[in-house]
Amino acid sequence: MIERSNQAAMDELVGKEFPVLDAGYVRLLDVMGSDATVVERARGTTGTKAGVDPKKDRDLIRLMMRKHHGSSFEFPEVDIEFRSTFVVWRQVIRHRAGNLFDDMTMWDEPSVNELSGRYSILEDRVQVTSDGEWRRQSTTNRQGSGDCFPVIEGADFSRWEGQATGVAADTYARLINEGVANEQARKVLPLGSYTTGAMKMDLRNWLHWLSLRLAPDAQAETRAYAQAVAGIIEPLFPVTYEAFRDYVLEAVTLSRLEILMIRRHLTRWPSPDPEYAPRDLFENKREKGECKAKMIRLGLTEG
Ligand SMILES: Cc1cc2nc3c(=O)[nH]c(=O)nc-3n(C[C@H](O)[C@H](O)[C@H](O)COP(=O)(O)OP(=O)(O)OC[C@H]3O[C@@H](n4cnc5c(N)ncnc54)[C@H](O)[C@@H]3O)c2cc1C
Repeated sequence: MIERSNQAAMDELVGKEFPVLDAGYVRLLDVMGSDATVVERARGTTGTKAGVDPKKDRDLIRLMMRKHHGSSFEFPEVDIEFRSTFVVWRQVIRHRAGNLFDDMTMWDEPSVNELSGRYSILEDRVQVTSDGEWRRQSTTNRQGSGDCFPVIEGADFSRWEGQATGVAADTYARLINEGVANEQARKVLPLGSYTTGAMKMDLRNWLHWLSLRLAPDAQAETRAYAQAVAGIIEPLFPVTYEAFRDYVLEAVTLSRLEILMIRRHLTRWPSPDPEYAPRDLFENKREKGECKAKMIRLGLTEG
């Protein structure tokens, strides 16, 4: 069922802070459009009317999501404020698709604003990692992390962190007190300090952002923000979000090699080991691991 308006969800969500990590949040600032907007813009291309048959409207959204017909999802816009560390904020605004120039060839910066560390005194609050939350460097993914250190070791790391960030905060305060320019003094603050900013993108790009930042290989801290953003987008655009979950977020897509691998696996059933792949099928160890993970997800092997 496509609701004509998402006003009720907006009333519920606009301005509300959704806490993330120890002192961060996401907050919906503004929304333009709803699931109905997506359908109306899509039907505009065929001259048919939205709202005549809710089931057909829903089917249309699902078809467009399935077939990557993305332009109709570009009409709704969502403006969200983040209070996050600089580490997370850098990843948030890495996505450039806020504004598109008219000539269709030039890309602008996203619609992003951030608290100015030149104009104002920055807060010295730093994201604190608790004793049990220190993750080991991943051995399989140089960008990722693995399991957590025992709490007893983590307690040392938390203490060291507290010492380092305490020195940074004191130094910042001293520099400001001495009259050093805000824009210069701020460089002593660590990347784990909190900042506040807002980013506005269209729905299509928020979904793309979510698909990357909710993924298991995204940094855990950023994933926590993505989960909070998903909690805002879903009730605002329930039909679109359901289609996104079904066809993108929780879908398994298979490469040509993976299809080959699965075919070989099925014909050799019940042998479950991707090692049956001839060496030339996956030259890359990581790709082979990803295939195995998909096969586990599909219930074809137990790992
Ligand atoms: C797990 C993970 C690890 C990452 N690691 C790194 C890293 O180590 N170093 C690093 O620098 N980045 C890293 N990134 C950032 C990543 O490379 C992308 O820059 C970021 O995720 C934005 O993705 P995007 O370009 O698809 O999205 P957006 O910038 O939001 O763009 C959305 C879509 O618009 C189109 N688009 C945008 N700009 C252009 C353009 N100029 N020309 C043509 N089409 C365009 C593309 O289709 C794009 O997919 C990482 C991202 C993730 C999720």
